[in-house]
Amino acid sequence: MIFLRIKTTFGFKYIHIRALLLMVISLLILNGCSVSQKEAPLKIGFWHTFKQEDTLEKIASKYSVSINIIQKKNDIYDSEDLVPGMKIIIPGVRHITKSSHKPVLRLQFIWPAKGVISSGYGIRHGRKHDGIDITKDNGRKIVASASGIVEFNGWKKGYGKVLIINHGNGFRTLYAHNQTLYVNKKQYVNQGQKIAYMGSTGKSSGIHLHFEIQKNGKPVNPLRYLQAR
Ligand SMILES: [Zn+2]
Repeated sequence: MIFLRIKTTFGFKYIHIRALLLMVISLLILNGCSVSQKEAPLKIGFWHTFKQEDTLEKIASKYSVSINIIQKKNDIYDSEDLVPGMKIIIPGVRHITKSSHKPVLRLQFIWPAKGVISSGYGIRHGRKHDGIDITKDNGRKIVASASGIVEFNGWKKGYGKVLIINHGNGFRTLYAHNQTLYVNKKQYVNQGQKIAYMGSTGKSSGIHLHFEIQKNGKPVNPLRYLQAR
C-alpha cells in the first residue's frame, strides 16, 4: 500500500493516497473558499458569477487571465453561451471574497433521445431547420434535456404534438412530432425524466424527434449545448 506523508497544522500525518486523492478532487470540485487553507497547494481558480453586464473581455482583464484559457476551461464556444448567474472558473486566480460562493453548475443539456441525427440544424434543402432531428433507432423514449417547467403541451401546426419546457435564464427546449405526451402544462420536470413517446405527428416524414433549444425565443444550434457522442 502506498502512503504519503503530508504536513497538516497538527504536525505530520500519514494519509492513505486514496484519501488524499479524494481530498484533492473535492478541493477541485469545490471552489476558491478552500484556498484560504495556508498549506493547501492550490492553484485551482476562482468561481466568477457571470453578470448581465459582463463580457469575456471584461472578466479576462479583471483577473488578468487570457480569454482563451477561460473559454477552454469552461467549454465556452461562443459568447452566447454565457448566461447571467452561471459560474465560470477563472483558472489560477486566488481571488477571495467573503461571500460564500458555492459552485452552481451552468445549465447543462443532455440528449433527449438515444438515436442519431438524421438532419442537422441550419439551412437544409434551402429551408431553415430550427433544430435537429433524432432517429428512433435506439428507442422512442424522449426525456427532458434539462429540468424545468412544461410551458406548452399540445398541438402546433407542422410540429404535431409538442412539448416546450422552460429552463429559466431565457432557455427553452422544444420536442416535436410526438405520439404521446406524458407531462402536463405547468408541471416541473427533472432532467432525464421521460416526457414523451416519439412519433410522426404533424408535418413529418416518419417517426423521429425534432428537438430545438431556444435562447431568448430564438433557436440556437443544439449541438453547441449537447455533449458530443
Ligand atoms: Zn426537424
